[in-house]
Amino acid sequence: MKFKVHSWELVTAVDGPGTRLDIFFQGCPLRCQFCHNPDTWLASGGKEIDTSEVIEKTKRYKHIFDTTEGGITLTGGEVLMQADAAREILQSSKKLGVHTCLDTSGAGSDKLDTDFIKLLDLVLLDIKGATPEIASNITRTNNYNHGIFFQMDSFARKLLKAKVELRFRYVLLPKIPDEQLFEIKTYVTKLENEFNTKIPIDILPFHQMGTTKYENLNLPYVLKDLPTPSKDEILHAKKILNNV
Ligand code: SF4
Repeated sequence: MKFKVHSWELVTAVDGPGTRLDIFFQGCPLRCQFCHNPDTWLASGGKEIDTSEVIEKTKRYKHIFDTTEGGITLTGGEVLMQADAAREILQSSKKLGVHTCLDTSGAGSDKLDTDFIKLLDLVLLDIKGATPEIASNITRTNNYNHGIFFQMDSFARKLLKAKVELRFRYVLLPKIPDEQLFEIKTYVTKLENEFNTKIPIDILPFHQMGTTKYENLNLPYVLKDLPTPSKDEILHAKKILNNV
């Protein structure tokens, strides 16, 4: 099946355990203020390849995945905008005995069936904020913004019910009020109690590495003058979100 990719790369200890084959899907409807990959936004961009090319790569790197306890990670962009292609890749990976990971905002997850969910070993789920208002503000103007919190929440619940390993990912901006961090902690703790499991929250400190991409694409970058969070702010957020 043909689908659109932005790129792919082999990474270690970033998007899931061990060495991973990261496939960056092209296209994302969200336009997050802090996105450092605006070049993945347009569904018309990227390049068209066949899912069989990815499956061949997965076969080629299987010995590395086996040695490092790694696997394949579908990321983007928003993978679920091309869920049929993702399904094919995940199905083949599972057949090969390769660990599968999905990195997603949850946009489009309402259309997934339980068979798709069974193909996932690990999901890295963005949490833009613990309220619909904050999540909408981060993801800005598009058809998905009003529902993104609810899609994320409903997808998290489906995954937990199916006992899929789940980690939340939170992009930490500087000077975030403690109140917002406590809201996230309270939201995740509630889910943990409801499903009797631990759900780690990975903190991704905001950075300016996407600036040149916005310039090259001639797109406005609303956070271009925002500093990165300080070490103290990161530690403080970790204390609240991870109790460390
Ligand atoms: S969901 Fe991810 S890829 Fe899409 S705009 Fe937000 S940060 Fe960028």
